[in-house]
Amino acid sequence: MPPIATTPSGKTTSKAGRYLMRLRNFGIMAHIDAGKTTISERVLFYTGKAHKMGEVHDGAATMDYLQEERERGITITSAATSCEWKGFNMNLIDTPGHVDFTAEVERSLRVLDGAVAVFDAVSGVEAQSETVWRQADRHKVPRLCFINKMDRTGADFHEAVVSIRERLGARPVVCQLPIGCGKDYIGMIDLLREVAILFDDSTKEGFTEQQIPEELKEEAELARHELLAIAAEFDDDLMEKIIEDEPVEVEQVQAALRKGTLASKIFPTFNGTALKNKGIRRLLDGIIDYLPCPIDMPAVTGVNPKTGEPVERNDDPDSPFTALAFKTISEKTGDLTFLRVYSGLLKAGSMVYNSNKNKTERIGRLYRMHAGSREQIEEIRAGDIAAAVGVKHPVTGDTLCDEKHPILLESIDFPDPVISMSIEPASRADRDKLGDCLYRLAKEDPTFTFHTDPETNETVIAGMGELHLEVLRNRIVRDYNVGASVGAPRVAYRQTLKREVEVEGRHVKQSGGHGQFAVVKVRFEPLQGSGEIEFSNEIKQGAIPKEYIPSVERGLRSIAVLGGQIKYPYLGFKAVLFDGKSHEVDSSDMAFEAAGKLAFRAAFTRENTVLLEPVMQFEVQTPDDYLGDVIGDLNTRRAQVSDVDSRAHLRVIFGKVPIAEMFAYSSRLRSLTQGRGTYSMEPHGYEPVPAETAKTVFEEADRDRR
Ligand code: GDP
Repeated sequence: MPPIATTPSGKTTSKAGRYLMRLRNFGIMAHIDAGKTTISERVLFYTGKAHKMGEVHDGAATMDYLQEERERGITITSAATSCEWKGFNMNLIDTPGHVDFTAEVERSLRVLDGAVAVFDAVSGVEAQSETVWRQADRHKVPRLCFINKMDRTGADFHEAVVSIRERLGARPVVCQLPIGCGKDYIGMIDLLREVAILFDDSTKEGFTEQQIPEELKEEAELARHELLAIAAEFDDDLMEKIIEDEPVEVEQVQAALRKGTLASKIFPTFNGTALKNKGIRRLLDGIIDYLPCPIDMPAVTGVNPKTGEPVERNDDPDSPFTALAFKTISEKTGDLTFLRVYSGLLKAGSMVYNSNKNKTERIGRLYRMHAGSREQIEEIRAGDIAAAVGVKHPVTGDTLCDEKHPILLESIDFPDPVISMSIEPASRADRDKLGDCLYRLAKEDPTFTFHTDPETNETVIAGMGELHLEVLRNRIVRDYNVGASVGAPRVAYRQTLKREVEVEGRHVKQSGGHGQFAVVKVRFEPLQGSGEIEFSNEIKQGAIPKEYIPSVERGLRSIAVLGGQIKYPYLGFKAVLFDGKSHEVDSSDMAFEAAGKLAFRAAFTRENTVLLEPVMQFEVQTPDDYLGDVIGDLNTRRAQVSDVDSRAHLRVIFGKVPIAEMFAYSSRLRSLTQGRGTYSMEPHGYEPVPAETAKTVFEEADRDRR
């Protein structure tokens, strides 16, 4: 059966168009442990790029090339890997399932055209599979579903399909029915071609095809009927043929299903067991048949950074170059920047324009990445995902384009870190190395930040959760060989303004010689529900010469970022500079920057500051028996439970909780539920901390300063 390579609109027959039609940029997304890594391994094996199948449980997986990932058996960084299946070029992006690495998932989804959502046949939809599914919904990523682990005792394909329908509110389309389950899982029925596929490791293909066994005919017929009815919704001609009971062609059904899948209205559903190498090749066929090629996706839109006019680009290698830099991996020999090209073509060694930073840079070598190896290439073109060497500035989330035809794509949104830890280098030599290593890690991972307190000299690292920081600590110690110890995790508080105030910042020093003179009057206003800091200049009649205004802003912002008396950044306010004074001789940029800082300090007194804490949206799954205990425990954590739902044999609790109360929650949940509970969290926003906590935090800050 030839795979379908036509786009719904049948748009193109040019050589470039044909190349794009034979390209699939896809990712694999799932709850942790559902089998993403194992599936990626099998995909790489069958597509000829890995010579020996890696097993996650013996730590040899090719995709998980970082030592940290091998030890944990989980996938943390997205490794982009190119491979080939039946003459199609495939770029596989491995997305992590753990919510602590949400930034990785976000950025992968941004650059993919389609995805395979993996579910465990025993547990169906789980907490994190739902989180990732919703993220994919937001990015309108067409998806296939793969019910993995059909070999496990308790595997239930139909139950898993029901959970997709009910929990995700999605429309799975069953394309294959499993034959047997658990240790009796022996094959599947291909409902389109109406044949039984029986696994047989003694053959080269790994299966034999037979007629559908008599006892399964009725079930197969019903399932096929359902499949055809859904396909017909996307093709009137097919609908007519079905009504008239005329024979239908496999290709026509596939084309109709493809249309529905590309519109994210339906989700073709497959089954298999990655561990036992069953069903993966069919899944690869499915990726070709149903997931989009770059030209199936709508043109990317952005703005001209110089004029603000909207700009559109489609996947055309002859149009101006446009790419999104979505990931940087720091290596000893230089940084590797991963690019998704949306239009045009880029040759190794040429110049590109970074429209976010308004900088031009030379791109060095270009590589197509395979897991653990790389292939140097001369050019990358529309639709491609590849890595570039030689980009000097941090670029994750930035648009790289042709300077003569600038475009700014929407940047990738990354949430602010929610917890922090102090990190102490073991020796002076380690201190020097630590700075460099933190800089590199932060460049790779936009949700990881660090700063050093100039007064105490303490270095603080911040990230998205305990696991995130633990993984980073291990990378510092192991990959970068820096001796360092970390403190206990702390909440990454923020501060904001309680009420509007008008203040004066006066920096006047006139003790002989050249003096310093700057006076600013600033009104600070709270920006309800915003994480932004805004600055506006309402000075009339030149009370302060124009050239000093940016210095005032710089002064204000520099403290806002570092924190004032207690070292937590400020957010959610607007500063309006409305008056001031200057001196012809004694005024300077430096003096106005200092006056800006003084104004800030005068506004954000302790009485006028609100301490905010990060609040997470959570979902906890537990067997019914432990529901009371789990909710009781959540109540002691200041959690607000908003809903409790039933899902198959499990109960699911939804709500909000301050991150401060969730340290070490995973081990607590394990002990409460005999290891059967799971949970996921994602940042929800910031809320004022209770008065008692604020008092303690302020007191601690005072103690530290003494
Ligand atoms: P990931 O966290 O989603 O990347 O999942 P992994 O690929 O690391 O798999 C988690 C665990 O499930 C590992 O111990 C795998 O060996 C195991 N596993 C993966 N696929 C299957 C399968 O099809 N059947 C069974 N029984 N185990 C599987």
